[in-house]
Amino acid sequence: MPGQLKFEDESLAGSGLARLRVFIITLCPLCALWLLFMLKNTFPKKTEVLIVGAGPAGSTLAYELARLGIDVLFLDKSRFPREKTCAGGISVRILRFLPFDLGPVVEKFISGITFTHKFEEPIFRHYPEPLMVTARRESLDQFLAHQAKEMGASFRDGVQFLSLKQENGQVLVETSSGTCSAKFIIGADGAQSIVAKRLGLMSESSHNILAIHSEVPTSLFPWLEPDVIHIDWGSLKRSYAYLFPKKNFFSMGAGGFNIPPPKIKNYQRAFLTTKWRKEESLPFSAAGFFLPLRQKRRPIQKGRSLLLGDAAGLIDPFSGEGIFYAIRSAQIAAPLLAEALREQRDSLQLCQEAIDRELMPELECSRLFREIFNLRPSLFHRKIASSDRWWTALAKILRGEKTFLDVKKKLGPLGSLLLRMAR
Ligand SMILES: Cc1cc2nc3c(=O)[nH]c(=O)nc-3n(C[C@H](O)[C@H](O)[C@H](O)COP(=O)(O)OP(=O)(O)OC[C@H]3O[C@@H](n4cnc5c(N)ncnc54)[C@H](O)[C@@H]3O)c2cc1C
Repeated sequence: MPGQLKFEDESLAGSGLARLRVFIITLCPLCALWLLFMLKNTFPKKTEVLIVGAGPAGSTLAYELARLGIDVLFLDKSRFPREKTCAGGISVRILRFLPFDLGPVVEKFISGITFTHKFEEPIFRHYPEPLMVTARRESLDQFLAHQAKEMGASFRDGVQFLSLKQENGQVLVETSSGTCSAKFIIGADGAQSIVAKRLGLMSESSHNILAIHSEVPTSLFPWLEPDVIHIDWGSLKRSYAYLFPKKNFFSMGAGGFNIPPPKIKNYQRAFLTTKWRKEESLPFSAAGFFLPLRQKRRPIQKGRSLLLGDAAGLIDPFSGEGIFYAIRSAQIAAPLLAEALREQRDSLQLCQEAIDRELMPELECSRLFREIFNLRPSLFHRKIASSDRWWTALAKILRGEKTFLDVKKKLGPLGSLLLRMAR
């Protein structure tokens, strides 16, 4: 019947419309989500501060700037989470400086150290409170980058910094994902900083620490205590070997100041062998890394650029500790960067001055004590074994309750004289 036919047509048309409506209803949110995703992930053309590197220095600075309401982009050439070779020993004083809890990424609380001198005379020292914590860098750095994103910083991983040009009150930054213009650029891109190279900074650093490092599954060393670190010292000038426990593996390496690679390689091998206690050859590989040390307060800024963390050579010349200085250099720089933006300055000289004031004296004192220690490592070893005063002083330095700067102050004018000589 025609009427019926008409009815069928309408229902057909109706179901077509309904399908279209369903199609639009399902597709639109998808389109909107896709658009949102594209907008969020297209590489920004402009930002106030661009940070190269999302290690502890870069992520901390991104966090602090975002907290101050600044438009900040931080990028890293690696996809996160990314691996990073590091013993992962974190001074507990960092925990006092961070505005959030590092608990989720802490693997071990360390409350004791076994020291050997030239692989002999082992002594064990325990401290009632944690001397340090250990973390896997993959988790720590992912966690810090996440905190910065949560605070509002934009993060692009898998994006490599290529070059920069400073002109007309801005920095044009070329990356593998496009060009971005920023008011300031920060090089937090680690020990082999490309930002530093492009700026012509840190080029004369002939002072460095060379570290040879292996990661060994804990199952291969069931006889080692899981919450104790091992240090060997005195075997090789201005060097020490370390074993730091994590949940599933031990970080085992050796590091030294201005040491030829074959020497430190042999030292690390000898250290591993003393722990291995087996006839067969060692079933793990090792890799080497150079950490440049900042010398004589050479510039770490130029125009609208600044270097932080390893890129600026802010590493303890005695222990090789760098995570603390990466985080602190970023925390010191953040409010001054905000001020520079507010007052439309075209230099970050004040950031460098603040880092010189707040971090360099401690690092320079550490260099002095490395030299003093190096005169008679056996004396220090025996003192740590026999004197509670010496052990407590070292434990307090490790915990960040005291620094070598305090020790230098105790020496009075002699300390100042020695420091001038050591610089
Ligand atoms: C073997 C070894 C053991 C160590 N153990 C300790 C320890 O136990 N405790 C401690 O405190 N310190 C330790 N350190 C030092 C510590 O690892 C560094 O001081 C610390 O990682 C510095 O942080 P950062 O943010 O400055 O640089 P990094 O952590 O190196 O981060 C730099 C980031 O920049 C990125 N990047 C580099 N180039 C580019 C580019 N062109 N474009 C985009 N991104 C780029 C990298 O991918 C990286 O993610 C150790 C170092 C070594 C080598």
